[in-house]
Amino acid sequence: MRTGGGGGGGDVLETLLIDRSILGAPVTEPAWIATFFLKILAVNILGYVIPAGLVFGLVCVVFRRRLEPARLQKGRRATWPQMRREILWSASAVAVFSFMSLAIVTMAAAGWTQLYFRPEELGWGYLFFSFILLTVLHDAYFYWTHRIMHHRWIFDALHLVHHRSITPTPWACYCFSPGEAVVQALFLPLVIFAIPFYPPIVVAFAVHQILRNTLGHSGFELMPPVLARSRWASWLISATHHDLHHSQSTGNFALYFTWWDRLFRTDIRRSTKTNENQNSAPAAH
Ligand SMILES: [Zn+2]
Ligand SMILES: [Zn+2]
Repeated sequence: MRTGGGGGGGDVLETLLIDRSILGAPVTEPAWIATFFLKILAVNILGYVIPAGLVFGLVCVVFRRRLEPARLQKGRRATWPQMRREILWSASAVAVFSFMSLAIVTMAAAGWTQLYFRPEELGWGYLFFSFILLTVLHDAYFYWTHRIMHHRWIFDALHLVHHRSITPTPWACYCFSPGEAVVQALFLPLVIFAIPFYPPIVVAFAVHQILRNTLGHSGFELMPPVLARSRWASWLISATHHDLHHSQSTGNFALYFTWWDRLFRTDIRRSTKTNENQNSAPAAH
């Protein structure tokens, strides 16, 4: 941890807006760890249920008829058993994320990360840039780990759970096997141990990630056609991109930007000229 923030576990915990009554408690005390884990678990559950529930409720239920022209897979519908499975696997992933969050905060409190706690410490320009940096790094991490998980040697063990949803719903955003959840959860500890980040930027990154993630699994393309066709938006990944990944499984591995898929020719739309409203069955991985 950078020393400019004053150092010490208390600073970390205070910055993260955790109950002040536990400040000063030894982070190795089992009761403290148990209490803190339950709080992290609650935050992570809400961090899944609220965005997934909002996107599902608004896009897939309330405005479903109005958005029908924007539905990506016209001839196929997600079933309730599928959604129940997506929620149960997501719940197990949230538990994994919570253990990782506990490890991150504990290690931050011990001063083992590059987190800094005064926003002006590295300049306001860096603060803004660090959000973009975190997103770009996550996109690269997601693309390569995701592409590796599609290798036939490890696909079934790690990634098959996510691909059982051929017509994904917002509830699939964290539908990962425990092994894949660990892979996904390792990104943050790796970057905050190497690169300075202000914790609220990490929170903003997490909010942006889950919103893009749930919208990408919504089954509806909400990007206005005029914007989607513009060359300025062509490098942004929309729901169409990831929905094709679920229905065909042969490409579109990235999360936020199209450049990795374009650079390594794994862009399904570019390589097969697939119609956006496709209904094809998934290809073998
Ligand atoms: Zn995949
Ligand atoms: Zn997916």
